[in-house]
Amino acid sequence: MRKIIVQKFGGTSVADTDKIKNVAKVVIREKQNGNDVVVVVSAMGHTTDHLVKMAKALSPNPSSREMDMLLSTGECVSIALLTMAIQAEGYDAISFNATQVGIMTENVHSKARIVDIKTEKLRKNLEAGKIIVVAGFQGVTEDGEITTLGRGGSDTSAVALAAALNAERCDIYTDVEGVYTTDPRVVPNASKLTEVSYEEMLELAHAGANVLHPRSVETAKQFSVPLRVRSSFKLEDMGTLILGVDKMELHKPVAGVAADLSQARIVVCDVPDKPGIAANLFTSLADENISVDMIIQSYARKVSNTNDIAFTVDSSDLPKTLATLDKLKDTIGASDIKVDAEIAKVSIVGAGMIDRPGIASTMFETLAKLGVNIKMISTSEIKISCLVDKMDAQKSVKALHTVFGLESDVVADVKGDLPDV
Ligand code: ASP
Ligand code: MG
Repeated sequence: MRKIIVQKFGGTSVADTDKIKNVAKVVIREKQNGNDVVVVVSAMGHTTDHLVKMAKALSPNPSSREMDMLLSTGECVSIALLTMAIQAEGYDAISFNATQVGIMTENVHSKARIVDIKTEKLRKNLEAGKIIVVAGFQGVTEDGEITTLGRGGSDTSAVALAAALNAERCDIYTDVEGVYTTDPRVVPNASKLTEVSYEEMLELAHAGANVLHPRSVETAKQFSVPLRVRSSFKLEDMGTLILGVDKMELHKPVAGVAADLSQARIVVCDVPDKPGIAANLFTSLADENISVDMIIQSYARKVSNTNDIAFTVDSSDLPKTLATLDKLKDTIGASDIKVDAEIAKVSIVGAGMIDRPGIASTMFETLAKLGVNIKMISTSEIKISCLVDKMDAQKSVKALHTVFGLESDVVADVKGDLPDV
């Protein structure tokens, strides 16, 4: 049986028609290797951002159903253009949107999860020798509503397709050459990792390393899909392979450092110290489909018998969070809701930190030496995150990258703007 390779190309790889021609060549090369090829593409360049901007110009709070209708169009443009480019090179190709394939999602707008992918149509067309080009980022509900998977969701579309088709590999082609120890635009001598485990990649992705959509890594881990991140402009470079931690040798305690600049902290002040308050609070947020990241509840104050509960959410969920809390404030007896949007989460990640004491203290000491104040701390087995002021994020990342010995001798060749800090 022929092997199936799923290739995914991000927005920068298909930003204009010349780049689309280049992608067509990469796709055809894989087909010439004797493989069946399913390609997933994102919207061209900054299309999605432009669409969001237009929506916001018309309405401060556009309905999420119409946002999905709007944003899903970006990927539809890319699939048709790429298919034409492949056909122009003399290869048989066909494009499908998510509804045509049957990328079934739950009935939630703006960050739906994939529940099933129908493979009949894909298999039939692969058997007919066609290269298939599928729209990333979008899905469809059982009753035919268009959904999207959340910003950056095309990676997840690609991995889910690879899992459904039992593909040999999923190659994520992007504008960087792989996964780095930290963002090379912030630290130019960041090192490229040849291998990284699903677990570490997952933590890095959640910590704000913008290389892969976190859910794509979860899906790859769940279905053991070998995932490769590589550059569509440097084909000789094999990029970074993401695989099970059991298959790796761990040399360093820390594999990477990341900063997430899109978090907001909320403090719910003076809630009574009694059962049910946290449950009520976080259930209400969950009902609105808001994911909460770090959570800290303070030690109860003796006299008033009250607590503060602080937590972080993604900035894009902030308006929804505040609206929910506004309704809930009196029920749970909070005296005040405080918001801090000028924060960043800086994290160190490494499967090698398990059973190695002193990693956390080194992190805190490094930040202390810089005079950086830590506002919240959270840990997992392989990650330590500190919430800091947004303006301290870059220098914290740089110092941590150095202290954990992650620098490379070569300066990464990266283009692109620095993230907004
Ligand atoms: N076009 C979507 C976005 O910009 C999905 C993606 O690129 O993965 O978020
Ligand atoms: Mg992306």
